[in-house]
Amino acid sequence: MLESIAARQDDLVSLTRDLIRFPTVNPPGEAYEPCARYVGERLAGSGFEIEYVRGEGTPGDTDRYPRVNVIARREGPRPGPCVHFNSHIDVVDAGEGWTVDPFGGVVRDGRVYGRGACDMKGGLAASIVAVEAFLEHRPDFPGAIEISGTVDEESGGFGGVAYLAGRGYFSRPRVDHVIIPEPLNKDRVCLGHRGVWWAEIETRGEIAHGSMPFLGDCAVRHMGALLAAFEEKLFPALDLKETRMPVVPEGARRSTLNINAIHGGQTDDFTGLPSPNVPDSCKLTIDRRFLLEEAIADVKGEVVSILDDLKASRPKFDYAIRDIMEVMPLMTEKDAPVASAVAHGIREIFDREPDYVISPGTYDQKHIARLGHLYDCVAYGPGILDLAHRPDEWVGIDDMIQSAQVMALALEDLLFAERP
Ligand SMILES: [Zn+2]
Repeated sequence: MLESIAARQDDLVSLTRDLIRFPTVNPPGEAYEPCARYVGERLAGSGFEIEYVRGEGTPGDTDRYPRVNVIARREGPRPGPCVHFNSHIDVVDAGEGWTVDPFGGVVRDGRVYGRGACDMKGGLAASIVAVEAFLEHRPDFPGAIEISGTVDEESGGFGGVAYLAGRGYFSRPRVDHVIIPEPLNKDRVCLGHRGVWWAEIETRGEIAHGSMPFLGDCAVRHMGALLAAFEEKLFPALDLKETRMPVVPEGARRSTLNINAIHGGQTDDFTGLPSPNVPDSCKLTIDRRFLLEEAIADVKGEVVSILDDLKASRPKFDYAIRDIMEVMPLMTEKDAPVASAVAHGIREIFDREPDYVISPGTYDQKHIARLGHLYDCVAYGPGILDLAHRPDEWVGIDDMIQSAQVMALALEDLLFAERP
């Protein structure tokens, strides 16, 4: 089976190039349907039942930009578990600074270049070739194999995995184990991600003429006091929070807070001169990433208590806080079936112990846990994480071959191992 994967190198490369040539840029969600159909037709040729599911009414879904997902399933000749490989087909905008055509599928020096080469069309192609080689060698397999190409991961996954997970596509008994071939490097198993809390905080004041600010109350100064309190109390406290989660890069192995946006007073879209007003509102968007050891109530409570202290100590300080999004931190245990199976594959192919990592940001695993209530899920795939979203993104051809071999071994392990 392993030699047969290596022998499929030309097919793997041309599949990756074909996928890159669909400019599935999100936003707006270009070329989703032709890309999904290409994947579906390929897998129909390998004996899969194909289903296309459109994320009707999800953000960005229109007749011009339909959110079309493809789910392929092949049943074995006897009952058993189901292993699902899930890849997103959307990519981020190419941006500036490329020396090759980002949608040309250029091959050079053992690499395939293009937007999405590593994140994550190379991973999708590797999983397809891994499964096809497996089917040829183990046609007698128990259970079922699924491969999906889903949309909108780069914008939160609502028209893709979230939509499908809400409809049972990522739940037992349909699916037991999920591998997401995101580019986390070919010898690492990614067990999950940190948690996320986005919120908007508004400080309120009172409008007045700018020449007599003492008659009003400046919301921007109140926000300044909040930012000063964050610097003094919150950031140092977050720096001290450590985790047993093996987050990479190591700087993210703590709690972090990003000030995502701040706006107070007049917007800057006027022409001419601003009018002299005391701003009565200032808004701050915060992006807090938290750890398995922290409860979301405490994460929110830290910020609220700083706000309440200011309200008690600072004259006229008033605020409102609004949740924008929250995602719980996730970590599949190392001895979970899918993590052990991938680790076994890495040992076989690279003759070394895998590294176990946690992603600093989230990906579609969150929906599989939150909506599908399926926790046997890891991310494993070819490609170097740091190249994602950058100009001249590439994926190594040898890396794709080796990670396809790891995937095939993991698949064999999960389907054939006797599990309670
Ligand atoms: Zn990705």
